[in-house]
Amino acid sequence: MLVVMRHDATARDIDAVVDTIREMGYDARPIPGKQRTAIGLIGNDGKVNADRIEALNGVLEIIHVSQPYKQVSREWKEEATVITLDNGTRIGAGEVAVMAGPCSVEGEAQIIGIAHRLRDQGATILRGGAYKPRTSPYSFQGMGVDGLKLLARAREETGMAIVTEAIDADSLDRVAEYADIVQIGARNMQNFSLLRRAGRAGKPVLLKRGMAATIKDLLLSAEYLLAEGNGNVILCERGVRGFDTHTRNLLDLTAIPVVKSLSHLPIIADPSHGTGIRSKVIPMARAAVAAGADGLMIEVHPDPERAMSDGAQSLYPDQFAEMMEQISVIAHAIGRSLVPPLVPVEEGVPQLA
Ligand code: PEP
Ligand code: MN
Repeated sequence: MLVVMRHDATARDIDAVVDTIREMGYDARPIPGKQRTAIGLIGNDGKVNADRIEALNGVLEIIHVSQPYKQVSREWKEEATVITLDNGTRIGAGEVAVMAGPCSVEGEAQIIGIAHRLRDQGATILRGGAYKPRTSPYSFQGMGVDGLKLLARAREETGMAIVTEAIDADSLDRVAEYADIVQIGARNMQNFSLLRRAGRAGKPVLLKRGMAATIKDLLLSAEYLLAEGNGNVILCERGVRGFDTHTRNLLDLTAIPVVKSLSHLPIIADPSHGTGIRSKVIPMARAAVAAGADGLMIEVHPDPERAMSDGAQSLYPDQFAEMMEQISVIAHAIGRSLVPPLVPVEEGVPQLA
């Protein structure tokens, strides 16, 4: 439930509403807006009797949030959430943010080398897994904290922000220490204790859609993060299980406009995991931008044939450059643009152009 206050409501009026909500056994969250303040009531799992609140001074109207994902919904917050990273990249503000890099961090030369190339080609966020959730226990499981340290070095050299996955409580604490964005992967989308921890980690979270999760499931998982006080959440469509064997997954691009209508959170697309096949990544990246995605996550490897994970879906660096040119044209066609590239400055780390 949302209590919308009149524009002339005083701080005392707002406090009285907050106190009443707490007396009723719920939690209250004031949401200051440009025109007026609203107070969100959380902690209920059903309709709340609003009579007591309605009668208080300064209350304009009560909105019952019909969706089960409350703080994530557009009913709760109409304006789009914008996440600003330390390097200036804004996600959700109408510019397309590109996160690119190898599936896994494999070593110093690999990650530092590709980071420079990707930065020069216009990506402002570097991806690379240090903790890998692999289907087989015998597959490469990632470099762990050594991988995180290499990512941090790549950030220092290139100015790119870092997004990398946490797979459990231990890795989450370490990832939160090093990364700019903590990734929760498809396999952990409904790991609710991990989500709660991520919600308290103090860093933006990239939440990927589970491979058999509905859009409602995805939004309810995001609600766990917001319920812990973390509003900096980016959603990611990365394909769901389909019945056709031509692609690894079925990239559900309808999720982009659907999520945009239901939620204020930004949503990006990952056509690499969404298709699993290199030759299908660029067409679907173009389509995702056309569908209104706030960003892309793209796997790129300097030598995909020798990649330790997901080589078959990793672009060659030259292909990535071609993709960037194409999506820039598409973004402009729908009144958007790409996040400006990072350019070297005289001293210190590169900044957005
Ligand atoms: C990844 O981004 O490398 C990854 C494992 O993604 P997903 O969780 O979408 O499978
Ligand atoms: Mn991968």
